[in-house]
Amino acid sequence: MLDLSADTAGRPGRRSFSCRLLPAGILLLCVCSGHLWAGEFLVLTGGRIIDGNGGPPLEDAAIVIRDSKIASIGPDFVVPANARIVDLGGKTLLPGLIDAHIHIGGSGGGSADPREFTPAAVENSLLSYLKFGVTSIYDMAAHPSLNAMKTALDTGELMGPRLYGNGFGITAPGSHPIRLITELGLLDYLGPFYFQVDSVEDAKEAVRRISAEQVDGIKLFHSRVEAGTTRFDADMDKLKPDILHTLIEEAHARNLKVYAHTSFPSEAREFVEAGGDVIVHSIHMAETGARDVFELMVERDVAYIPTLAVFEGGYTTKPGSFVSPHLHGKVWDVLLASITAPGSVVLASRNVPGLLNDRERSLEISMSNLERALQTGVRIAMGSDAGNAGMLHGASVLRELQLMNEAGMTPMQVLVAATRNGAEVIGRGEELGTLEAGKLADIIVVNGDPLRDLSALGNVELVVKNGKIINPGELEFKELNKL
Ligand SMILES: [Zn+2]
Repeated sequence: MLDLSADTAGRPGRRSFSCRLLPAGILLLCVCSGHLWAGEFLVLTGGRIIDGNGGPPLEDAAIVIRDSKIASIGPDFVVPANARIVDLGGKTLLPGLIDAHIHIGGSGGGSADPREFTPAAVENSLLSYLKFGVTSIYDMAAHPSLNAMKTALDTGELMGPRLYGNGFGITAPGSHPIRLITELGLLDYLGPFYFQVDSVEDAKEAVRRISAEQVDGIKLFHSRVEAGTTRFDADMDKLKPDILHTLIEEAHARNLKVYAHTSFPSEAREFVEAGGDVIVHSIHMAETGARDVFELMVERDVAYIPTLAVFEGGYTTKPGSFVSPHLHGKVWDVLLASITAPGSVVLASRNVPGLLNDRERSLEISMSNLERALQTGVRIAMGSDAGNAGMLHGASVLRELQLMNEAGMTPMQVLVAATRNGAEVIGRGEELGTLEAGKLADIIVVNGDPLRDLSALGNVELVVKNGKIINPGELEFKELNKL
């Protein structure tokens, strides 16, 4: 039995009392005066626990939380006298989900309503993540006020998931996404957050400047394809080999992981051979050669974030798609309405000749390559690429999980990708991603069994973030009727 009497309050060795959940599930709650424990305790009992490691779920177990961290987890536990106990019989508990590829600066709507580009929209999108059980997000570049937002989330000024990110992107001159943001008229706004490098000196300077900010990694674009809303022509420049090597070396010298957007197997191989850490999209332009790349990724411990749902982002208005009435209350109405409003770039993209076919083909290739990655043993994390047109924050996660499942991953493999692997990939594996003593208490409680049907993750009843309970149903969106 776990004995908490040697607690971190500095009074080891004195046993106070012990309470435990008996195997039969009878809770003996002690009410003792003069208990020795300091801090706030929360005990979650009665639920089925999926701990994020991929093993069988724990039944009749409890999670004891002290302040922001998990103090213990398992069938044998001590209930501190001052604990708040929450009985979660019939529910499933699992680690808060981690979306390892998002863009909080993009609304995820149709860009048809100016209110999408207000601070209120960002705040509402952060709330949506909690409503979908996502307690950590990684902004994969580029957001102008990433650091300010991180601080506001840390201090509680903003409500939302933990936020990590790169803040900036590095690409070859005029290459993705520079051409895209130029076409969208966003170059003045977003241009300063992309370094267009054409020499080894540029590369060193870019990493030096980026690492002077509070970033969690370096994001590279190494692709001939404009994987945006307009075309998939493979006619752009990649990063030159010496530049690619320099960028990765300089980032690693500063202890920063390197994340890359690649599209073809050859691009992914070049990145992996140069020493990169994480490929943040599917290899979506070809299947031939992908298996060899995945084998190399296993050898070099390079992770893979498939971002499948983003290929559907352009046709989210199809019947049965993930834009549905069920999202009302979980996604700000302004964003939902914008997807189907006149002027929506989501609708407009349907009229770009060949684009939907390109996307459908890319999704097929991505699904097939995910199966290859899985067979090869590549570490897979979950990322939605939310923030792009039609890729609603939070809501897109559910679709991403379903597509990963359809591509051949079991529900348990999908859950591990969205929890433990996600934490490892964003460099937070020591403190997040699994339910283990000593880790931060980010936990979600869902109604139903996600191992049977992942759509149970659409029924998040409770979120614990940093040891504090949040009722997602009570999170209210900021209304902004006028600009
Ligand atoms: Zn992205």
